[in-house]
Amino acid sequence: MTQTIFMVGARGAGKTTIGKALAQVLGYRFIDTDLFMLQTLHMSVAEIVAREGWDGFRLRESMALQTVTAPKTVVATGGGAVLAHENRIFMRNHGLVIYLRASANVLAERLAEDPEDAQRPSLTGKPIVEEMLDILASREALYQEVADHVLDATQPPEDVVEHILQILTDETVK
Ligand code: ADP
Ligand code: MG
Repeated sequence: MTQTIFMVGARGAGKTTIGKALAQVLGYRFIDTDLFMLQTLHMSVAEIVAREGWDGFRLRESMALQTVTAPKTVVATGGGAVLAHENRIFMRNHGLVIYLRASANVLAERLAEDPEDAQRPSLTGKPIVEEMLDILASREALYQEVADHVLDATQPPEDVVEHILQILTDETVK
């Protein structure tokens, strides 16, 4: 049980919340690729996008993903990391991928309540629920494709963490 665990899912799905809690229980390192980029490039997601566009951001995100991947590490990926085929292959080959799944309504509600998330750049300029519907429609198949396990991210965080721990136990026994 020394592999990397990748958390994937849309903004607000709980990748950071669940990933941190999981890492703590396992005694693993926790890394958020967005935060890693902020610390190493000294630019926020918004700043990178403003300077280099989404394509530039995605390139940097792929590099960050590969750089932080290590044994005994939980990696919270960016919501759009699955868009790059390279990232999907990389995650599938380097660890266990957990998709935290929630409806557009739930995600929009969570983002509306979180001032930090509300400041992240909009991908489309549309109202948040519509944006989440569009995002899920375009990414659901990719999240499903990359995931080893799809979890209901609307369960209480403790339950989601417990579920992942059970999955890890089952994987070890296999
Ligand atoms: P992500 O990292 O995927 O964007 P976060 O972990 O930042 O998501 O969570 C977004 C918001 O939703 C936070 O306010 C967090 O407290 C809340 N949240 C995350 N997971 C859950 C959950 N399982 N149940 C209720 N609220 C949650
Ligand atoms: Mg996060």
